[in-house]
Amino acid sequence: MEYRTLPHGGDKISVIGLGSAGIHNASAAEVERTYEIAIDAGVNHFDFIPSESAPLEAMGRALGRHREDVHIQVHIGALYESGAYGWTTKAAPAIAEFEQRLATIGTDYADFGFIHCIDEDADLDRVMNGGIWDYAQARKADGTIRHLAFSTHSLHIARELLATGSFDLAMFSLNPMYDYTDESEYGQGEAADRALLYREFERAGAGVAVMKPFAGGQLLDAEQSPFGQALTRFQCIQYALDKPGVLTVLPGVHGVSDLRDLLSFFEASSEERDYSVLASMAPQTREARCVYCNHCQPCPAGIQIGLVNKYYDLACVGDELAAEHYRNLEHHAGECIGCGHCDHRCPFGVAQSERMAQIAAYFGA
Ligand code: SF4
Ligand code: SF4
Repeated sequence: MEYRTLPHGGDKISVIGLGSAGIHNASAAEVERTYEIAIDAGVNHFDFIPSESAPLEAMGRALGRHREDVHIQVHIGALYESGAYGWTTKAAPAIAEFEQRLATIGTDYADFGFIHCIDEDADLDRVMNGGIWDYAQARKADGTIRHLAFSTHSLHIARELLATGSFDLAMFSLNPMYDYTDESEYGQGEAADRALLYREFERAGAGVAVMKPFAGGQLLDAEQSPFGQALTRFQCIQYALDKPGVLTVLPGVHGVSDLRDLLSFFEASSEERDYSVLASMAPQTREARCVYCNHCQPCPAGIQIGLVNKYYDLACVGDELAAEHYRNLEHHAGECIGCGHCDHRCPFGVAQSERMAQIAAYFGA
């Protein structure tokens, strides 16, 4: 397992966690076994909001047995009144459900207490002024919530919530389909603005837990994919992990076999994870933009090209930490010898050697 660090608090979070969609058709025994195997493999980050209420008890039992070793996302605003997932902005049922979910796990705290799935201004207003936000802040103050978090599909709601300075984690839908097409209501905003938002997450010190990394499976099926060509799960996971701010990707699984397939990501070669084929599938933005994929490696000067570009983009939006990370790299943009290998290799049309000169000038040789 690989881990990344939550900027506020320093928790180590597994780069693959588990979402809860998909597990509701498994038997209770299968659910518990799936979670046990995941935890045994080092997965330590779990969303706790399945599509139906059926697996909640089994999930809670497994997570409760390993309470100190796992991070659990518990939502204020999810509901299971009819047995199926629903949501509300009314404080009383949202709070009752949140407290019930802690009881299901047999715990008295949530690692991440979520302001749940706010996509509209009117909903945001109800949450912030109708009791949920006050409750979340009070539970943060008394330690019931260790970190405040939010989930949304909306760029401007994400920005409004980030501006409060209160959040340590955001759950955001992120995949090539949502970034490059407007084929889904979950993928709002155009590519450049979404890329900017990822940098804003990182600058704000709010980690991103990725939901819908496969666009609900659409990207894995050539017939359903808007690109007319399928990507693999490994490519989608690597794509998400390369984005600024991202700490973990949270796919749902149907059971043990599905989980084992997912975890084989860590045995996959760099070729299997390479998603540069996307350059021939996705409509390109007006300006060729580095997506940090590292397809252009190796660099004879030893420059980590994707990382240098990521730190530069972050520094440009005021992320001082990223600028420091850049300075601490072993090899810097100023060492580029202009061989042109990266220009030739980049499927996204980035004139990378020119960009290296620009980056070197920005940071000073
Ligand atoms: S220059 Fe191109 S190939 Fe290299 S990391 Fe950026 S997008 Fe990927
Ligand atoms: S042009 Fe510069 S950055 Fe690109 S591969 Fe050559 S030395 Fe590395």
